[in-house]
Amino acid sequence: MKAEIIAVGTELLLGQIVNTNARDLAAGLSDCGVIVYYQTVVGDNPGRLKDAIKDAYKRVDLVILTGGLGPTKDDLTKEIIAEYFGKKLVLHQPSLDRIKGYFDRMGREMNETNEKQAYMPEGCIILENNCGTAPGLIIENGEKTAILLPGPPKEMNPMFENEVKPWLKEKTGSIIKSRTLKMVDIGESNMAAEVTDLMEGENPTVAPYAKEGESELRITAMAESEDEADKLIEPVAKEIYARLGEYIYGEDDTTLVEALVKKLIQKKLTISTAESCTGGLIASEITSVAGSSEIFGSGYVTYANCAKMKMLGVKDKTLADYGAVSSETAKEMAEGARAASGADIAVSVTGIAGPGGGSAEKPVGLVYIALADNGGTICEKLKLDGSRDKVRGRTVKNVLKMVIQRIDKKGENK
Ligand code: ATP
Ligand code: MG
Repeated sequence: MKAEIIAVGTELLLGQIVNTNARDLAAGLSDCGVIVYYQTVVGDNPGRLKDAIKDAYKRVDLVILTGGLGPTKDDLTKEIIAEYFGKKLVLHQPSLDRIKGYFDRMGREMNETNEKQAYMPEGCIILENNCGTAPGLIIENGEKTAILLPGPPKEMNPMFENEVKPWLKEKTGSIIKSRTLKMVDIGESNMAAEVTDLMEGENPTVAPYAKEGESELRITAMAESEDEADKLIEPVAKEIYARLGEYIYGEDDTTLVEALVKKLIQKKLTISTAESCTGGLIASEITSVAGSSEIFGSGYVTYANCAKMKMLGVKDKTLADYGAVSSETAKEMAEGARAASGADIAVSVTGIAGPGGGSAEKPVGLVYIALADNGGTICEKLKLDGSRDKVRGRTVKNVLKMVIQRIDKKGENK
């Protein structure tokens, strides 16, 4: 089924609100086997709304509209749709009762204009609104279907999830399901090169994506049920694991730091951090994961040289000979943090996040990251670009990556 989403609202055109409804609907529709061909935004203007609806039905057979179901004069979506389909608006008593009940519960007087919200196009399917007043509706007319949903996301989303999705799934008899395999330490093009043959498949499809320092392969299947979709996805996922398993750190919503914390918990390893230019960001990331207290006891933010010496035992001579931003200092920081904390693994960061402070020899974006464990100390030199925030953010990712790879390569660390 091909669909178009029409978001109605002048505020959207003026940039006063973000069209999150279109985003949420687009994501949800694909779960129901509906393919979104177009997204339109139109103001609260009857003529242009009418044109938008007419244009949409030239292209697709399902139109989903959000917004303009409220009680006020500029809320016109239902009226225009009724006119388009040649349907009269008739009082739907259960909706009126529900709206009255809603006002009672809120302890508010019902306004007469709210009655307008209980007038629905004859013969339509009513979608109950349990989070507000305006009911939604579905009109089917020959080949054409319209679904009208309220504008406020806190009303639109539950109505779509609880009432529209099941209706659509039944209608299309199919669902779309995706599984995303997330990788680090391999670029998007190298990753794609390993699976070109799989990317030619039609069901499931395999598509590559690149994100800040990470690469993903999304496997998407269309099937009659979730089980059927899983059956189509599984062998392809297995094949991808066979070819790229060493780079895969997790699936779907798993983040890099969650994967790392999980790995540390599994291997019963503890970690400590020694941070200069990231100022505690790595510790913050790690502790943002529930359960991290099992693996994280302390971290050190050592911004000044004297802090590096005092808290981590970095040698005066190292700082004098090589400078604070050097592999030598990074290594001593990691070793010092490991000794001071008693953790199994310690990581450190020292670098120049910018925008000032760079030199020809040590430019902005030069960062050293080190890791100390019972196998010794390793160090990586990073050359990052972008703003101060970007350099700091990318450094954090690189450190998380470094730890994951170290654990994977060493197998047993203890
Ligand atoms: P109401 O009964 O609140 O008037 P409505 O169905 O008439 O609801 P609108 O008047 O179009 O909807 O929008 C009401 C509010 O809902 C907007 O002010 C905005 O905060 C939010 N909203 C509307 N459309 C969208 C959208 N496409 N994406 C995100 N939020 C939206
Ligand atoms: Mg409104």
